Amino acid sequence: MVTIRFKALEEVMNRQPKEVLFPEGRVSGYFASNVFGKEAMREYMSEEAYNSVIEAIEKSTNIDRKIADQVAASMKAWASERGATHYTHWFQPLTGETAEKHDAFFEPTESGRAIERFGGGSLVQQEPDASSFPSGGIRNTFEARGYTAWDPSSPAFLMGKTLCIPTIFVSYTGEALDYKTPLLKALHVLDKNATEVCQYFDKNVTKVTTTLGWEQEYFLVDSALYNARPDLALTGRALFGHAPAKGQQLEDHYFGSIPDRVAAFMREYEIEAHMLGIPVKTRHNEVAPNQYECAPIFEECNLAVDHNQLLMELMKKVAKKHNFRILFHEKPFAKVNGSGKHCNWSLSTNTGKNLLAPGKTPKNNLQFLTFFINSIVAFHNNADLLRATIASAGNDHRLGANEAPPAIMSVFIGSQLTAVLDELEKKVKSGKMSPDEKTALKLGIGRIPEILLDNTDRNRTSPFAFTGNKFEFRAVGSSANTAAPMIALNTAMADQLAEFKKQVDALIGKGIDKDEAIFQILRKCIVDSKKIRFEGNGYGEEWVAEAKKRGLSNIKDTPRALEVYIHKESIELFNRMNVFNEREMHARHEIRLEGYTKKIQIESRVMGDLVLNHILPVALKYQSEIVNNIKGLKEVLSASDFNKMSVIQLDMVKKIAEHIEVIKKSVDQMTEERKKANKLSSQKEMALAYRDKVFPFFETIRYHVDKLELIVDDAYWPLPKFRELLFTN
Ligand code: ADP
Ligand code: MG
Repeated sequence: MVTIRFKALEEVMNRQPKEVLFPEGRVSGYFASNVFGKEAMREYMSEEAYNSVIEAIEKSTNIDRKIADQVAASMKAWASERGATHYTHWFQPLTGETAEKHDAFFEPTESGRAIERFGGGSLVQQEPDASSFPSGGIRNTFEARGYTAWDPSSPAFLMGKTLCIPTIFVSYTGEALDYKTPLLKALHVLDKNATEVCQYFDKNVTKVTTTLGWEQEYFLVDSALYNARPDLALTGRALFGHAPAKGQQLEDHYFGSIPDRVAAFMREYEIEAHMLGIPVKTRHNEVAPNQYECAPIFEECNLAVDHNQLLMELMKKVAKKHNFRILFHEKPFAKVNGSGKHCNWSLSTNTGKNLLAPGKTPKNNLQFLTFFINSIVAFHNNADLLRATIASAGNDHRLGANEAPPAIMSVFIGSQLTAVLDELEKKVKSGKMSPDEKTALKLGIGRIPEILLDNTDRNRTSPFAFTGNKFEFRAVGSSANTAAPMIALNTAMADQLAEFKKQVDALIGKGIDKDEAIFQILRKCIVDSKKIRFEGNGYGEEWVAEAKKRGLSNIKDTPRALEVYIHKESIELFNRMNVFNEREMHARHEIRLEGYTKKIQIESRVMGDLVLNHILPVALKYQSEIVNNIKGLKEVLSASDFNKMSVIQLDMVKKIAEHIEVIKKSVDQMTEERKKANKLSSQKEMALAYRDKVFPFFETIRYHVDKLELIVDDAYWPLPKFRELLFTN
């Protein structure tokens, strides 16, 4: 009997790296050639239309319908010249994937022929049949309709023969059904509030942009092996599989040489990404075998989010061409590292200054400290909310499970900046400060070096670490849409900056001079947010105890983490900042719970199927073979020899029987629990039941299946083993 596993392995052994055709010339020659960006717009649009789009991008103004017609016509001309036949509104529904519905450019004419047409109306707005996207009940109550609307701040692009137009996706009643709508709102309010705070330091600042640089981790598995693993194909992770003798303990994969087939895959997606204007720059092996990372140069946040979503789609497609499957799941393989998506976050001004980078002068550094300290406060005040934004069934295997970052949210800033904050806390006096005291303070902050040495002593265990000129939110899961944490982080920061300004202005109103007022409020911020700062080892047991003492949350699973979405404080925050209304928050809470439940439900079903159809049959078959062996021995041996020589076999038969018994019983019980959970009426109860009653069976079942894997004849084992999934490419 040749199992599908052996066929797959044979296929893998015969693979060759695919040849990748390079476009002519250097990257600078073809970069963004598939993007309808500023250069293309200038070429294809009238000056009036061009200026109007630029204004819409920079000042979020509306584009009038006549101009929209012009923009549409030029977009179509540009795209058609490049072979496009269709266009689509490209959006990010709450499924976490991207969505598109293609329409052809042509329209039939009265004469029975057709003309190519694409008007402003089709550009600006579309009504996809949206009833099958998650809405958390929003659409059911009123209208079943949803529509997409053009986001001019993210340029249209060409994918194959389709012109893709980035859009928001909202219900007929105006509620957001996607990630982009609230993200744009959050970025807008952050811009407004940050610009106002910048005015204390520099009157030339009229706009503050959020920057995001993500680092995408992923695994690659050969597609033949992937196809032989229904769990990978249906859930994105291996539900079974004994750890291989060699895992990542030799640390020989990280930054190791990239295998040829993988390198070819990387070259191809990079070329495509570059043509789409995605500035991917670094690639390397990650810690686990067959794990890799890619990172671009950071960009404006909305664009960076779009580019991440787009790149994930692109990588899936290109991987298939190279006979790979890409796994974005946070924990595809137990016992080796999982995947995250670090989100490097900062703010920059229209004057070209990074607000989270120290400068050369005390004035610059006071501005830096203002934004730096306010970021810490924003994180401190909203730690549980931020934890909720990154919660998912996949990420539960990382956060608060066997690996890091931990589920406890904390901030790492390094020893140099800790010293600066300690000094501020000590030296700033409430009431009036003497000129000497003020000078001493300014001298102190003038000494913050431009390049912070702590860059090097990176604390890899911190979920939110300052890394010299940006914060790095490390707890984000690899499959996540980065908009979710970015919406919360930017809203939290906007809110905190407004509060900061209010307090500073109040002191100025009392006759305290501006710098002193800023110092005093910063000192208050430092004191109030102290408990969130942690410089030690985030993976240690001591931290769990210490965090508890400090009153920091340690929320271990998704259903419980999501609860914060409907807390009064969260709803008020998003309301105040005009990012979400209460209905939208409740909807998001429901959608996320439902998503969690479905994931666990699918995993549980796949587990049951695999056990019954794959694992138990081969275990029983192998067991019968041993039983036959015993019978044969009995026939040919003397009784005393038989007693001696059948011990091991009898023991194996028993062991297999024991494992089978636990597995079968657990699967039955798990199925019962699933049935009970499915009858619950609220999403919250259901998600909790799946977490607390269904999920715990996974570990038991897996343990015993993995034990069987070690006993049963390798030739029978149907599922590609971890050593094959992780070490062949
Ligand atoms: P690593 O964290 O792997 O050591 P780097 O610190 O060089 O690597 O950068 C990681 C990521 O941070 C990159 O994607 C980079 O574009 C991004 N980054 C750098 N500066 C900023 C910034 N000001 N705002 C947002 N992201 C940034
Ligand atoms: Mg990093």
